Amino acid sequence: MLTSDVENFPGYPTGIGGPEMMIHMREQAERFGLEVQDKNVEKVDFSERPFRVWVEGEEHRSEAVIICTGAEAIWLGVEGEDAQKGRGISTCATCDGAFFREQEVIVVGGGDSAMEEATFLTRFASKVTIVHRHDVFKASKVMYERAVNHPKIEIKTHRKIKSWLSNDEGLSGAVLEDPRDGSEEEISCTGAFIAIGHKPMTGFLQGELEMDGSGYILHSEHTMTSVPGVFAAGDVVDTRYRQAITAAGMGCEAAMDAEKWLEDQH
Ligand SMILES: Cc1cc2nc3c(=O)[nH]c(=O)nc-3n(C[C@H](O)[C@H](O)[C@H](O)COP(=O)(O)OP(=O)(O)OC[C@H]3O[C@@H](n4cnc5c(N)ncnc54)[C@H](O)[C@@H]3O)c2cc1C
Repeated sequence: MLTSDVENFPGYPTGIGGPEMMIHMREQAERFGLEVQDKNVEKVDFSERPFRVWVEGEEHRSEAVIICTGAEAIWLGVEGEDAQKGRGISTCATCDGAFFREQEVIVVGGGDSAMEEATFLTRFASKVTIVHRHDVFKASKVMYERAVNHPKIEIKTHRKIKSWLSNDEGLSGAVLEDPRDGSEEEISCTGAFIAIGHKPMTGFLQGELEMDGSGYILHSEHTMTSVPGVFAAGDVVDTRYRQAITAAGMGCEAAMDAEKWLEDQH
């Protein structure tokens, strides 16, 4: 829902708008009798079956549950960001990199994701500047070296983004600040990629399922979680691929696993 153009989902040879694709998926599922409630799940109780799920105060009961609440990219939250989200500023180079052919872009972060995004973006951008708050990188040595040795990549350490600059055509640059002495510099860019991590949307589960240290749900067998009858799919378990097609594929797996598991109960 946050992106304008999706160019890499199969079946759309000329691309499709993100919200439009969501409407298509929803209408297709509703044609088979799916009921959708646009409401938030607040808490769950998976201690016995039927499972209990509280949706904005109303209690629902179910023999099986599939969780696919996704993961939110972490944004910087600095001035000028909201206006450019999903336009000049993205959190996914695989998705949006090709929109920045022969343009100057910034990648923010110091981990493997930032190095990977920066290296990937060199296929399209004329110049990639990695901006990192420290001079120590969390990225693995091999990923860091691949980035640092690339002729199109410049790395600026001890810099954080203070604000984003834009003009009538969109993003135009960033104000960088040196956290050690507060000094500032401006650099130009028409695209920026924030690669400082993702937060899985699992707070409402309150530890009812096994998760990794970052809150991603762990599978125990195929798409089933640590609680038999509770399944999980998509970005809420996926720390690696995070694409619409991979989430949809895993959603299909979870639906088939849930159906088979329900059949086996009788
Ligand atoms: C800006 C942007 C651009 C992208 N572009 C592309 C692209 O071009 N191609 C591509 O393949 N991928 C793209 N992606 C990645 C893709 O969107 C995700 O990989 C995919 O949407 C993951 O699907 P999902 O169903 O797991 O989670 P999501 O699509 O995130 O869906 C999770 C849903 O659960 C809901 N939810 C969360 N918590 C609760 C709760 N407590 N109760 C009820 N509902 C809840 C959320 O509101 C949301 O509707 C992009 C992502 C972003 C952010």
